[in-house]
Amino acid sequence: MEIKQQLERLYAEQLEEWAEFNERRALMMSHEQRSLSGGGLAVAVKVRNNPARMLSTTARVTMVRGQQDTSPRHCMLCPDNRPRQQRAVSWCGRRAMQVLVNPYPIVDRHFTIAAAVHQPQRFDADTIADMLTLAAQLPGYAVSYNGPRCGASIPWHLHLQAFPVDDTLLNGLSLDDEVCDGVVRRDVLPLPVKLYRGVEPARVAAEFVDATGGDETMLNAVAWSDGAVAPLLAVIERTHHRPANFGDGDGQMLWSPGILDLLGIITLPREHDFTTITAEVAAAVYRYISQ
Ligand SMILES: [Zn+2]
Repeated sequence: MEIKQQLERLYAEQLEEWAEFNERRALMMSHEQRSLSGGGLAVAVKVRNNPARMLSTTARVTMVRGQQDTSPRHCMLCPDNRPRQQRAVSWCGRRAMQVLVNPYPIVDRHFTIAAAVHQPQRFDADTIADMLTLAAQLPGYAVSYNGPRCGASIPWHLHLQAFPVDDTLLNGLSLDDEVCDGVVRRDVLPLPVKLYRGVEPARVAAEFVDATGGDETMLNAVAWSDGAVAPLLAVIERTHHRPANFGDGDGQMLWSPGILDLLGIITLPREHDFTTITAEVAAAVYRYISQ
């Protein structure tokens, strides 16, 4: 069976057999949504209130580098620690990977694709190659990467995500081939984006990752097929992980932007943030995290 059919069958079966997942997905689908445009935003975006994301967002509030257990022993992406009801579909590209339903979905048909072996999140040539291969095998889906300091909730276990292109600003985007070789576009997403098509994964990796094992550039990335032969790759560089006033107190905002926030779906776990955010505030945060 093709990988796309396997994923969609897994999703349907997990909805049947895993009650908590089914409930969280139903809740996510019922959430309120607003649109934001103007006010300095390059494009219109949607904003959603999703309290189920509170846990993963606030976990990152208190995270102190070096004090978190990053070993496989308590890693929620390692097979031994996953919920009993969670099943996986195996996929092998350059790395062996396991596709799981995202137990805290942001959109419908939201998947997590975790490396079979515990290893840190890294935007290396193998990661990029696997994103492009998966994007080609999953037409209609975007395959994304959140950098370790750019929205990845478990940065000590390499993982990608997949979700429908239709729900995002990638939908219907028409891009000319000649503007795709690392050229920056400022008009297609809320943040400036570098676009690639048909490039060697190692060449892209060399732009962003220190080959000697040091830190990588802060970034998010997404690969998808827009119907052309070779999938597109978009890389969004960052300067900050979160808004300057990030936090759960008064006058603060609980928003930890990952790839979906950069593709036009802002997820805010706290209702107060959802009701008070304006296009101007969103535009200021997008500017802050990219400049
Ligand atoms: Zn792990």
